Amino acid sequence: MIEDLNQKKAILTAIIDSSEDAIISKDLNGMITSWNKAAERMFGYLEAETIGKHISILIPKDRIQEEEMIISNLRQGKRIEHYETVRLTKTGKEVIISLTVSPIKNADTIIGASKIARDITRQKEIEASLKQYTEQLEFLNALSQTIARELDMNTIVQKVTDAATYISGAEFGAFIYNKTGAKVETSVLVGLSTGYRDMLQKLAIMPGSRDFKTNFNVKAVFRSGDINTDSGYGENLPQFYMPDGGPKLKSYLAVPVISKSGNASGCLFLGHSKPAMFSEQHERIVVAISNHVAISLDNSNLYEEIKALSNKKDEFIGFASHELKTPLTTISGFVQLAQATPELAAELIPKMSKQVHKLTAIISDLLDISKIEANKFDLNYSKTSLLGLIGENVESVKHNTHTHRIDMELPKEDVAIMVDAQKMGQTLINLLTNAVKYSPDSDRVLVTATVEGEQVHISIRDWGIGIDPVHLDKIFTRFYRVESTKNKTQGLGVGLYLAQEVITAHRGRIWVESEPGKGSVFNISFLKNNPGPDA
Ligand code: ADP
Repeated sequence: MIEDLNQKKAILTAIIDSSEDAIISKDLNGMITSWNKAAERMFGYLEAETIGKHISILIPKDRIQEEEMIISNLRQGKRIEHYETVRLTKTGKEVIISLTVSPIKNADTIIGASKIARDITRQKEIEASLKQYTEQLEFLNALSQTIARELDMNTIVQKVTDAATYISGAEFGAFIYNKTGAKVETSVLVGLSTGYRDMLQKLAIMPGSRDFKTNFNVKAVFRSGDINTDSGYGENLPQFYMPDGGPKLKSYLAVPVISKSGNASGCLFLGHSKPAMFSEQHERIVVAISNHVAISLDNSNLYEEIKALSNKKDEFIGFASHELKTPLTTISGFVQLAQATPELAAELIPKMSKQVHKLTAIISDLLDISKIEANKFDLNYSKTSLLGLIGENVESVKHNTHTHRIDMELPKEDVAIMVDAQKMGQTLINLLTNAVKYSPDSDRVLVTATVEGEQVHISIRDWGIGIDPVHLDKIFTRFYRVESTKNKTQGLGVGLYLAQEVITAHRGRIWVESEPGKGSVFNISFLKNNPGPDA
């Protein structure tokens, strides 16, 4: 019998010692009476160190009243199940535990309690990071929904700056983007976290005046615990942009916004005056935000381009009707005059013919544009005399201008070229008419042609108002006109666009050299025996 009891006791001790949970017993005064192996591992005290000690060695000061509550429950014979609380290890480290306390009875008297404690620190950490992760996802989702509906660049950028500042816990946030795209690299500071907006916006050192590529072209994410001791940021230390009395940044996170084209279209900058404030987790969410922004900014850019094109189209329709109406009104005036005074008819006919010529040119341009848009811009190649082509079209323009003489420097010997004579002629007329139109204070235009081997080169020079370099690559685009005080002319902004379409369809090249106030040279070159694009 006694042996049986001893065997039972030994089995129970073995179970208790092999348990993963800490199993502790104490008397009703809170004195520890047993302490298993798991308790040693969990709390760091050996059994011998705890027996006879008060259970409060494990209880944080601010939780000491919990023991009174537990004892009071025990006295009433009540069990406490899965009570989540915090206890201290021997080294003072906190462990989150799930506690089950049951009364120990001797006959009917409660003489103590057994405590089973399970370490749930890891589980709690996972729960907390899951919660944080879910919150961040919800936040990101809400942000992406708001910015997806938004097409206005400034609103997008402001919302994103505020969101990134908030979610990263930054003190300072700014979004600098390359407003004008990759060509003219001017950065614009738009988004600034609310707290610093007023202060920074007054600054003369606004990065708007700075070159985007040198100062802000951050290609990779940059995170620093203390920017002042970190050499990774080189000369672009953000402190440099901070005003006196502004925050002295230590923690720093810069995340580029990469557009579809692969260029950095902007950069999110976040800062904090305390060191090591941005974790990998912060970095990840700001990168996720920046990816969303990239898409929204691309969309917004596309929308702006379409809007601008649509505005230009409206403008163009207005201009086109005006341009068509002017010669028509003149012609109808001449017709009325000729009807009323037949003897003037002979004199009026050349004038009418000039207006008809103008009308034909405009209508032909308009037709070509609609053909290009419908992808029906075909060339009719035929063997054509180079000298004949230039001569005829110069003649036609001469006929309609009394202000300029058109000089020609042509090869002595004619050559046969394979071109669409009508379209090439129309191109020459457009370039010649522009040369006259944009040189109101001059009286000369020079046409030069040379043939070198297979290559034909024609240039049309004027001594007119010239073109500012910023417009040079744009004047060949549809509806583009240089608006300036010097340029009082009217036009549709399609002549050069059509010229470029015609010349590239001939597999040739058109380009301009120009100096404001001095004049322009429009050059075209193409192959003499161009077999055409389909050959
Ligand atoms: P339009 O002459 O109808 O405006 P174009 O497409 O022919 O349209 O020309 C586009 C723009 O290029 C013009 O508005 C003008 O500003 C500029 N341009 C073209 N040719 C010249 C030139 N010879 N000299 C100065 N500017 C020119």
